[in-house]
Amino acid sequence: MVEDDPRRLIPGTDTLLSHPRVRRASNTLSRHVIEQLIHQAQERARHGELPPDRVEGEVLAQLDAYRPSSMRPVINATGVVVHTNLGRAPLSPAARSAVADAAGYVDVEMNLETGRRSRRGASARRALLAACPPAEDALVVNNGAAALALAAAALVGTGTIVISRGELVEIGAGFRLPELIESTGAQLLEVGTTNRTHRSDYAAALAQIPEGTPACVLKVHPSNYRISGFTSSATVAELAALSRQHQLPLVADIGSGLLAPEAALPDEPDLATTLSDGADLVIASGDKLLGGPQAGLLLGTSAVISQLSAHPLARAMRTDKLTLAGLEATLNGGETPVSTALSPDGEKLRQRTQRMADSLGAEVVPHDGRAGGGGGPGVPLPGSAVQLPEPAAALLRSGEPPVVTRTHGAWCLLDLRCVPESEDETVLQAVRTALEDLPPPTRGVG
Ligand SMILES: *Cc1c(COP(=O)(O)O)cnc(C)c1O
Repeated sequence: MVEDDPRRLIPGTDTLLSHPRVRRASNTLSRHVIEQLIHQAQERARHGELPPDRVEGEVLAQLDAYRPSSMRPVINATGVVVHTNLGRAPLSPAARSAVADAAGYVDVEMNLETGRRSRRGASARRALLAACPPAEDALVVNNGAAALALAAAALVGTGTIVISRGELVEIGAGFRLPELIESTGAQLLEVGTTNRTHRSDYAAALAQIPEGTPACVLKVHPSNYRISGFTSSATVAELAALSRQHQLPLVADIGSGLLAPEAALPDEPDLATTLSDGADLVIASGDKLLGGPQAGLLLGTSAVISQLSAHPLARAMRTDKLTLAGLEATLNGGETPVSTALSPDGEKLRQRTQRMADSLGAEVVPHDGRAGGGGGPGVPLPGSAVQLPEPAAALLRSGEPPVVTRTHGAWCLLDLRCVPESEDETVLQAVRTALEDLPPPTRGVG
């Protein structure tokens, strides 16, 4: 470096680290993050992208903007209630506050009266049993897939699972339930055809399983697709009677996690009805239509739940304290955002949509929402949307806060079904900003 090289003026790392605001940042940011931000600014100055006298200011600005977790809250204006890419169910206020409380030390495994160890998850279990009276016992694991793997491993081991060919489903991102089940060592005995499986198909398969082979019957709800036309399947009640004859458990994976029937989704199975119809074990996700945190719920007879709890894999799938707190509060707290979005006050939603469209000079168009990855495949949830030009979608997504909309042909459709009313003003401002940034020919909001 020559004498008058401006790079000599770039502030050194130690100088920057001793700046009072940088020192204060170390209360909220790790040392390696701070050093990385400093080195990036110095590097940009070395390459002539930043004048040396602006390095300090740049470091301070970067420190202010830095968020320790990069996962950003987004506004879901898609009309899809349980959106897998947006973290499925948003938690209720009660569940959010329970999760925050559980973040510190908590009595998750201690009886505070006796000072002795208590059963982990006991209160979440009690809440599940209270919310679903037909269940004798319950167990919570990390997610629905874990619950299914545990059921297979604990109930049949390397034995046989009888399942309809119409229920060999892929649940998303190339993840196939048959492969998951077989990975536990269980053998699938497929019965029936893709579109039609009868009680007699199960009966024939069960008759063929050698006496003494551990086995069960599994009924899986195809939550993300629908077969229509010439179709037939055996009911839970029919399969329960048949399984009982063979003294084998009937397991039902209902996916969605509805506690009881839901008017907006008439064909969606629920935990209480499936158990009342005779299933020995029902499996569901916590973060779909139940509206809680990610969890795998196992509800059933005392005998089956004890068998599952005693399996070594149960420990490997043990739920976190945050999940247990969030799940219990979801069950005991007020209405969940998922439930509100599934059955909104239609007139109020229509008025909010109209008001937003009027403020923007845009049109309101009919738009069907969906339950989404949670269930109710193909069931439209009738509603409306504000119609914006398609290029607005990308601008809204990259704004602050990001607003995710639905793109349909030449239009960006903004559906308020899953947006809390308290965020209408934020959404309106976000759309105004996005429309201002549109190239002039597309700015009209037709
Ligand atoms: C979603 C779903 C699963 C997987 O549950 P996760 O909680 O996502 O692991 C399993 N079975 C069915 C029928 C589902 O719909």
